[in-house]
Amino acid sequence: MEHNPAATRVLVIDDEEGIRVGSERILTRMDCDVTLASQGEQGLNLLAKVRPAIILLDMKMPGMDGMEVLGRIREIDDSILVIVITGYATVETAIEAMKKGAYDFVPKPFEPDQLRIVVNRALEKLRLQQKTAKLVSERRRTLSDLGTEKSRIHTILASLPNGVIVTNADGRVVLMNPAFKQHLNLDAQLHAGGQIRDYIQDQGLCDLVLDISKGKYIDYEEIPTYEFAVSDEKFMVARGRPVLGDQHECLGAVVTLVDFTAMKVIDRLKSEFVAKVSHELRSPLSTIHEQLAHVLTDMVDEASQDGQQILSRAKEKTQGLINLIGDLLDLSRIEAGAVCETPKKVDLSDLLKGIVAFLKTKADGKKQQLQLEIAQAPLPHLTADPLALESIFGNLITNAIHYTPEGGRVRVTAEATGISILVKVIDNGFGMEAKHLEKIFERFYRVKTAKTRYITGTGLGLPIVKGLVEGMGGFISVESTPTEGSTFTVSIPVG
Ligand code: ADP
Repeated sequence: MEHNPAATRVLVIDDEEGIRVGSERILTRMDCDVTLASQGEQGLNLLAKVRPAIILLDMKMPGMDGMEVLGRIREIDDSILVIVITGYATVETAIEAMKKGAYDFVPKPFEPDQLRIVVNRALEKLRLQQKTAKLVSERRRTLSDLGTEKSRIHTILASLPNGVIVTNADGRVVLMNPAFKQHLNLDAQLHAGGQIRDYIQDQGLCDLVLDISKGKYIDYEEIPTYEFAVSDEKFMVARGRPVLGDQHECLGAVVTLVDFTAMKVIDRLKSEFVAKVSHELRSPLSTIHEQLAHVLTDMVDEASQDGQQILSRAKEKTQGLINLIGDLLDLSRIEAGAVCETPKKVDLSDLLKGIVAFLKTKADGKKQQLQLEIAQAPLPHLTADPLALESIFGNLITNAIHYTPEGGRVRVTAEATGISILVKVIDNGFGMEAKHLEKIFERFYRVKTAKTRYITGTGLGLPIVKGLVEGMGGFISVESTPTEGSTFTVSIPVG
């Protein structure tokens, strides 16, 4: 007979040959792999070799009787299902055998069907046992996989140089890594579990984490990055994301902290370098510019038209460079925090009147109307650096004149709103497409259209204006429509 490794192995131990042969025939048809033994000792000796799942065991045998064999089998391997064959339906023997650990019994003599039923029951039990064992081992494996995965994530988080903190929807900290504690100078032994404010001192960052945890941000793009200083020499940037559940409900927030002190230092060095170079270039350039102006006045009659044009062009270019250097130096000062070095009481109406009067000639040159409308004079006094205010409104009104065609109109309005003064510079000029509006406050950004291509500039005016306004605690915004005009609104807090 061909050996089927998947077949259930059955050992039949019976001294009666008829029973052995009959059982073998029945069991083989049931796809079992059958081994026969005619005595108890022989059966026991075969155990190790055959490793049966089921044993059919006669109770009444010469030599070692069935009950003793059963006892020995139990000692050797109690997972084997032993079906005892009891002569003349001796119920007592069957009961005793069952007590000793037999799985079932079949009376002798038996019909083939009787044996089949009992063996089928045993086979079913084996099948269930195997299934249970498989499930148990799978579960063990899943649990151990989970355990490994958890400890792997733990190790990764622990070795990250960036700080990581995870909160639940109430803003309670559920996890934080060592880098987080280190970056914020927290005790290394500090455990998660408390409210976010117990760990983070910076109020702005606390508010942001709470907002994200509570699901305020649906659009990730809207979540701001948050920069803050841990000390005078350490700067961090925090980025957060909500943690979403299966139904997209917000379960909390995960926030990373990155140390960007080095970037800040590089940025400062860069600004210092730009300031130094600009400073060094300014005087020689101004000298060249003046000398060119001199030469040009002196050579009115003598030189050729061409020569004059070349020198005029050179003079214009040096003026452009001088403007650029002036702007770079202004920006460096703003970046260094020197926005309001000499705050004074300023009457903004007077200041605006002065600027408008000064720029009137420029506007007249382009046949433009330049009007100043002050809603409720007198405006409350501001405490600010007048030079900074002049730079802000000088830049905005000059831009309005530059980027408005001949014959256009520029209006400057000012009104008090209680806590601040609102100044608008409104023109009906070239305007800009919406895509440029955010970017015009970035350094060197200039909008080039067919109409503005030939207007010279540095692209530094608006970054300077924004830096100055924000340095005073105010804000600037812009609305614009191509061909219709632009409105720049500046709000400066009073007091
Ligand atoms: P600059 O004027 O030297 O180029 P700015 O930073 O002052 O630099 O302005 C940046 C850009 O914004 C300008 O190049 C121009 O394209 C656009 N811009 C500024 N003000 C106006 C305005 N009033 N109308 C239309 N475009 C403007």
